[in-house]
Amino acid sequence: MAFTAPALPTVANLINGQWVDGSGSEILTVLNPGTGAELTSFSSSTAEDVDRAVAAARAAQPAWAALSARQRSVALHAIADEFVSRLPEFIGLEVLDAGKPVTAATEEELPDIADSVRHFAGAARVLSGQAAGEYVPGTTTFVRREPLGVVAGVTPWNYPLWQAVWKIMPALAVGNTVVIKPAEITPLSTVAFAAMAQRHLPAGVLNVVNGHGSVVGAALAAHPGVNLVSFTGSTVTGRKIAAAAAQHPTRAILELGGNAPVIVFDDVDVDSAAESITGAALYNAGQECMAATRLIIAEPVAERFLDAIVANLAKVRLGDPTDESTTLGPLISADQRDRAEKLIANRPASSTLRYGGKRPDRPGFYLEPTLITGLSQDDDLVQQEIFAPVMTAQTFTTESEAITLANGVDFGLAGSVWTRDIGRGLRVVNALDYGNVWINNHLVVAPDLPIGGLNASGYGKEGGQLGIEEFTRVKQIGISLT
Ligand code: NAD
Repeated sequence: MAFTAPALPTVANLINGQWVDGSGSEILTVLNPGTGAELTSFSSSTAEDVDRAVAAARAAQPAWAALSARQRSVALHAIADEFVSRLPEFIGLEVLDAGKPVTAATEEELPDIADSVRHFAGAARVLSGQAAGEYVPGTTTFVRREPLGVVAGVTPWNYPLWQAVWKIMPALAVGNTVVIKPAEITPLSTVAFAAMAQRHLPAGVLNVVNGHGSVVGAALAAHPGVNLVSFTGSTVTGRKIAAAAAQHPTRAILELGGNAPVIVFDDVDVDSAAESITGAALYNAGQECMAATRLIIAEPVAERFLDAIVANLAKVRLGDPTDESTTLGPLISADQRDRAEKLIANRPASSTLRYGGKRPDRPGFYLEPTLITGLSQDDDLVQQEIFAPVMTAQTFTTESEAITLANGVDFGLAGSVWTRDIGRGLRVVNALDYGNVWINNHLVVAPDLPIGGLNASGYGKEGGQLGIEEFTRVKQIGISLT
């Protein structure tokens, strides 16, 4: 079936139910990473636009919070129904704007987003809390979960719609109102989602402000009218957001970068493990904060395992994301490709470029799937998040050495251990300083489960009951029995 391009939404701000252009003087362009061609452009926004959006969200919040959980859930399920009925349109927007290969978007990412919309639509129906009781003699005490007020969401470009949905839907479900700021290079799916969602919501409950992070994102993080900033993006930006939010203090959830270790012991089924790990490394062209790209392999099996990875990389079909046979699409931008190329070019002389490393001769922002071996712990390729289809390899001889290498970076988002020895697998994941760890698996993500990082990967959870409750505050109420 040939790819059909959807109609592109007009990128503007949604404030109090009205679409208005940003009041900034700059025009920002949105490119198709598969071709490098311009898709659309829009006016930047200012701190005054943010003020208006936050004021609209504040004004709408008490009435939205006063609805029952069921009433909010009915509205959110109406959004889910319409979203599912229009899924091909959203698939098309993510393919064009974010360079997602159409087959992966159709079979995996967009159905997962639809599932997330449905899951979070009912999120406020079963909130948890301590049982009421006489903890203090003569007084019955209980806790009440309340919405925070206004939630600001600041999202990255690697999963534009997925990230927007994981912030907007649970925040609304528990009674907050939202101002969302998409990454300026991938605003299309968030704008289209908001246009659809607002037909099922009172004006002001969901607002969108488009523009530069350093202006719009920074104004949201520092805004006294915002009660929580939910941010996904780089560690550098996360630090700025946390510092700005601390002034009031406003709560922050920071889902930042990662550099996932993948520890492979010598008892694995080499071909099957290599196939799963290659898939988890190249998903979304490696622009995935949990991508399985940092291999730490037991010496006895290392050569065989790396040969199997190379064989898998040779099977990758790099190409136009609108082509159904494409398994690896472009990177998001020329900047991201340049960054990855620079890291590859500056690799230490002692390392080996085992596969790939070049840009194909075609328009768009493509990079070959790449494997670099013989790296040491201090090398930039090991220490930094590459965010590209680039796998690195180190080897180990003892279990404790593997753990030391895995934990020897600033990040702490995700990691995995591959072994048939279940005791060893559990021992090692218990020792990993990471927020999401898996045995014989990688990239286990569902809206039912909390994800979130440690250390330089940030704090707070998204998804699961814990992630939903991040959007609430807890009040203790005690009543005298006399
Ligand atoms: P980024 O930090 O540059 O931008 C993310 C968002 O923050 C964008 O909307 C941007 O406009 C905004 N922003 C930029 N500067 C800002 C500022 N000073 N104040 C407020 N907002 C600002 O990151 P990116 O390049 O868009 O995204 C890639 C990064 O996101 C990677 O490092 C990746 O690991 C990380 N990421 C993490 C997760 C996770 O769940 N932990 C998920 C996806 C992406």
